[in-house]
Amino acid sequence: MSAPEHLVLVEHDVEGHATGWVAADPDLPQVRVTDVAATRGDGVFETISIGSGHPQALAAHLERFARSARMLDLPEPDPTVWADAVRALAELLADHEEAWVKTVLTRGVEGQPLPTGWAYGTVSGDFRRERTDGIDVVLLDRGLRSDAATTSPWLLAGAKTLSYAVNRAAAREAARRRADDALFVSSDGLLLEGPTSTLVVRRGTELLTPPAALGILPGTTQVDLFAAAPDWGLQGRVTTLTPADLAAADAAWLVSSVRHAAPVRSVDGVESAIDAELSAAMNGFLRRRLR
Ligand code: PLP
Repeated sequence: MSAPEHLVLVEHDVEGHATGWVAADPDLPQVRVTDVAATRGDGVFETISIGSGHPQALAAHLERFARSARMLDLPEPDPTVWADAVRALAELLADHEEAWVKTVLTRGVEGQPLPTGWAYGTVSGDFRRERTDGIDVVLLDRGLRSDAATTSPWLLAGAKTLSYAVNRAAAREAARRRADDALFVSSDGLLLEGPTSTLVVRRGTELLTPPAALGILPGTTQVDLFAAAPDWGLQGRVTTLTPADLAAADAAWLVSSVRHAAPVRSVDGVESAIDAELSAAMNGFLRRRLR
C-alpha cells in the first residue's frame, strides 16, 4: 500500500497576502514549470513533525518560516492561514503516530507578482535504528567563515531556503565516505550543523549547541530539548564548539523535527560514546511533545 499523501494550496492576492487555502490532488501537477521554486530554488520551507495528528512546535516553525521569508525579501507568510492549513493536513494524518507536513512559499511564477504556496503532508519513515543504534558522522568543511552571515547576508546562511542542493550533496558525500550523515564545519574551524539537523553535545551536566549567529538554522527541536533539559538534570547552553570539543564530549546528537535525536556513534571513523538512556528520554519526549 502506498503512503497517504495530502496537499493544500495556499492562495495569495497580488499584494502577497495569503487569502486562504484549498485542498488539492497531490497526484496532479500543481506548480508551473516557470515557478522560481523549480527554476531557481527561490523560496523558503519548513518541515513540521506531526505526532498522532498534532503538529509539533508549530508556532516556532511558523516564526522561522517568516524569518526565512524576510531574509529572502518574500511577503510575510500569514501565521493564521498557514497554521490552519497545517492543522487541516495533520488531522488527515491522525491515524499515524509519526507524520510530517512541509510548507513551501516561493516567489511565484517568473514575471508575475503572486507568491506560490502549498503544504504537503505524508507519513514519516522508520527512524528507530538511527534513534537507538546511532549514526556515523563525517565532518565536512562548509567553506564559509563563521562570520559569513554578518559579512555576506546575500549567501542566506541560516535561512531555510528551497536551495538544498548543497545539503543533498553533503549527504551524498557522507554516504561516499560510508557515513550516515554530515556535520558542517566553518572554514575557521567551528562546528556548525548537519545538512538537515542541529548539533547538540553533552558535556557533564550541560547540553551545548552552536549559536545561530554562525549562519546556521535556529533549530526548533534543539530549543524544545533545552527547555526539557532540567527534567533530565541538565542545563542547556549556546556556545561555539570545535571538533576537539566534540571528540572530548560525553555524548552528541544530530537533532531535527522528523528524525528526532540521532546519537552520534562515530565522527570521521573514530567511535564516540552513546548515551543510550538520555537518547531514549529525548526521543520519548520528542515523540510526545504537543506545542
Ligand atoms: N539545520 C538545518 C540546515 C536543517 O535543515 C534543519 C531541519 O531540517 C535543522 C537544522 C533542524 O531544525 P528543526 O529542529 O527545526 O527541524
